[in-house]
Amino acid sequence: MKVDLEKCIGCGYCVRDCPVGAVHLSKKKAVIDETCTQCGACLKVCEQGALSRESRIPEHAVICDACPINCQIRPGMIGACHRYRNVEGELLRVTPLHTWQDVEDVVGPDPAEPIRRPLITAIGSGTTYPDCKPAPYIVRGKQKGVDVVTVVTEAPLSYSGILVKVDTDIPVGEEGADVLLGKRKVGMVTTEQYGSKMLSIGGVNLLTEKDGLAVARTITDIANKKPVKMRVKGGARLELQVGQTPVINGMRPDNMRVGCGSATLGLFAPLLVAAADEVIILDPHITSLMSEHAAGRFVGARPSGIRLRFRMSTPGRYFGDHGSGWGGTSIMNPLEVISGLDQDVARTGMRVLITETTGRNGRLFELDEGGTFQEVPLTGASREALDAISSTCEPSRVSAVYMGGTGGSARAGVTRYPVKLTRAVHSAKASLTVGGAPTYVLPGGGINFMVDVERVKGGFFYWTPTPATICPVEYTMDLRDYQEMGGHLEAMKPFAVKGPRMVVD
Ligand code: SF4
Ligand code: SF4
Repeated sequence: MKVDLEKCIGCGYCVRDCPVGAVHLSKKKAVIDETCTQCGACLKVCEQGALSRESRIPEHAVICDACPINCQIRPGMIGACHRYRNVEGELLRVTPLHTWQDVEDVVGPDPAEPIRRPLITAIGSGTTYPDCKPAPYIVRGKQKGVDVVTVVTEAPLSYSGILVKVDTDIPVGEEGADVLLGKRKVGMVTTEQYGSKMLSIGGVNLLTEKDGLAVARTITDIANKKPVKMRVKGGARLELQVGQTPVINGMRPDNMRVGCGSATLGLFAPLLVAAADEVIILDPHITSLMSEHAAGRFVGARPSGIRLRFRMSTPGRYFGDHGSGWGGTSIMNPLEVISGLDQDVARTGMRVLITETTGRNGRLFELDEGGTFQEVPLTGASREALDAISSTCEPSRVSAVYMGGTGGSARAGVTRYPVKLTRAVHSAKASLTVGGAPTYVLPGGGINFMVDVERVKGGFFYWTPTPATICPVEYTMDLRDYQEMGGHLEAMKPFAVKGPRMVVD
């Protein structure tokens, strides 16, 4: 990297953001040393335009091709991600490859098999109140030759909510926008996952505000896999049901996308290079241009001279925009994405395929002698590439993860020393299940868990006007651990399944 000392004002932004500490300030001017990898991070943050790339690759530097940044790493130096080092002209991974044994201590134990499944679930168990009373069922039995105890309760949880994943590239609304049930706020739009929109419904703050009853009912309905109609303020109308295709503004998206535009190109480059001279895959996050993209170059795509109107991330990868056009961008007519054409590079007769990350829409254009793109029918090869993309996409559906923090009855109902239960859960000595389904317990203090509602028998989440949602919670553990944590042994009853009947007592 070169510094234009006239333009540099010594703001230090490049010093702050250089991933390898290659920049320092001297007399209020940026100075770049030989650890620079040409990663370009400083270029992106310098507001004065004081930095530019060296035109020549440094002597003995090796170009890393493990990501689109293509660091130029000098001997003995590391790349921008700190993973690769140039050791005598060869790029070596700084960290050795790890086996399971190398990480076992950090991963920690899983619950042992005898306690992974509860003896009984909390479905139908009821709740005891006040919290310090023993839970409704504390049962003892044998599993895999081990004496185990399962404690169950239907826990009323004010600290609860549900994260809803809607597989679609149809825009639903701005990040942070309110999700409304009628006129009442029940949640918000959060970020997007790969090919999905995420909604956060409920949470303690909404549950304890004026619309808490609607919030509790909405969480419960979604968790019970009932259809729910909501809308996003300033965004889409939603009809959502866990396990079903979402309905967004009356439309049913067939498939979720296969990945971002860059991943789609990477996955299908061998087919795409046979489909056209140039391929553009429209996507709001990363729109790709085959001839510039590493995957396109890898399969032999030649430069086309096409320039895109989006902002470049790395070669062949462009940050798109959001809209109701192709691939969830603002592009309504696919040729709108082309902002310019280098006539010295472009070739008459050159064909350009423009598509989306679902392969749903695809159009082929040919450059005529006058330098204008004319639409031509899709060829067999271009159809094959589009079919390959669309057949790899999975069906759009709604899924949801219920999240709760186990409160009073779900802890004091188990033991007189709730912190011992927390420790047992975190150390895998007690297994927490919801309606028999495994949970993920969040790290740190407390017992905050997540469960896939599709693994919980339908209809057994409830709500109460406190307001709170009610979740079937089970703890299963070795009898000796239950004794050690000060469990309610006096309330423990033997349990057995005799024929088709369950017997407690
Ligand atoms: S190009 Fe990258 S490594 Fe070099 S100075 Fe800029 S930020 Fe640092
Ligand atoms: S993988 Fe790391 S070292 Fe290689 S180009 Fe990317 S940032 Fe640089």
